[in-house]
Amino acid sequence: MTGSFLPYGRHVVDDDDISAVAEVLRGDWLTTGPTVEKFEASLAERVGARFAVACSSGTAGLHMATAVAGLSPGDRAVVPPMTFLATANAVRYQGGDVVFSDVDPQTGLLNIDGVQDIVDRARNGIRAVLPVHLAGQTVDMPSLARLAKKAGFVVIEDACHALGTEYLDGNEVVSVGSCRHSTMAVFSFHPVKTIAMGEGGAVTTNDPDVYRKLLEFRNHGMTREANQFQNRDMALDSDAEPNPWYYEMPSIGFNYRASDIHCALAHSQLKKLNSFIARRRELAARYDEQLQYLSPILLPPLRIEGCNPAWHLYAVRIDFKASGMTRKQVMVRLREAGIGSQVHYIPVHLQPYYRRLYGESSLPGATAYYAATLSLPLFPSMSDGDVGRVVDTLAHCLGMN
Ligand SMILES: *Cc1c(COP(=O)(O)O)cnc(C)c1O
Repeated sequence: MTGSFLPYGRHVVDDDDISAVAEVLRGDWLTTGPTVEKFEASLAERVGARFAVACSSGTAGLHMATAVAGLSPGDRAVVPPMTFLATANAVRYQGGDVVFSDVDPQTGLLNIDGVQDIVDRARNGIRAVLPVHLAGQTVDMPSLARLAKKAGFVVIEDACHALGTEYLDGNEVVSVGSCRHSTMAVFSFHPVKTIAMGEGGAVTTNDPDVYRKLLEFRNHGMTREANQFQNRDMALDSDAEPNPWYYEMPSIGFNYRASDIHCALAHSQLKKLNSFIARRRELAARYDEQLQYLSPILLPPLRIEGCNPAWHLYAVRIDFKASGMTRKQVMVRLREAGIGSQVHYIPVHLQPYYRRLYGESSLPGATAYYAATLSLPLFPSMSDGDVGRVVDTLAHCLGMN
């Protein structure tokens, strides 16, 4: 890609992905057919969960998760401010209240001591906590799980950045999505994430009851399972067998289904996940090495001990004040040199909607991380030379070469 514009992230779609989608288009099912289940089975196996439920986006997945967790009006859920809007919004969709808990200023990851403080202070308890594995690095899940057990909240991982990430729990290697320390984990397959589905996402779980509820909520809240039917007189014929047309809606849901077309792309992409991750790790290591000389004005991502991230983002921290440049100036100069960059994220508690609801909150960790962060280009089809070009250009923009 040298010479052309380098975005901060992009998908890699090959001919075999296109063939997989074309095959579905020539077949009998475009919406819910066999490819949905095929993708779900592959994903569950890959992350080491019993069940996976594909859906129409990561946002839909987060909403499915908060709904199935039983989040209701008046319930409170803890969310880090350093995330995409959808993590917090999924709490609001259910009428729950968001309690923003601060992040580490160096990693942007949810600080477990902060969650503990909130839990200790909450009079009516905390119903759920949604840790976000920012950039692909993991929140301290074993500690969060211990706290969850004591305090009785549900853990829903926003794993949209972390497909393929592994971390150590003692001597055991845990795969993100296996739900070893959570009830559910949510993935996004937006093209900028680790694999592409167009628009799409998934929720994984090990709990059969949660799985059944996820399927129901994804499809209008309806069920065709005879053992779930409540209107027995309407459901069953005189032979006590269910009527063939019969379905029931025990609770309300949405249409959050994923189509066979989308799942064909995701299934094909999943086969390449290992190579995508390996390349992302290689590129991140190259950045780390080549950016060293810009320290301490520019710092590479701080590595979490015991975590082997799949690196969705490569986010550096820049002391803009010391560099004498604003972030805007740096981004504009990078863009002029054909290099995209992005800020992940504007702290969600500062959004007008949340300020109006909850007033001003002081979250210094998020403020500090936000002031310094800049995501550099990172995607599997980048060349080694692209990394060199980004580093040289960045050094130049910061007046350091
Ligand atoms: C992308 C993303 C989402 C939303 O996923 P969509 O598929 O775009 O709806 C939610 N949370 C995080 C952290 C994300 O990066």
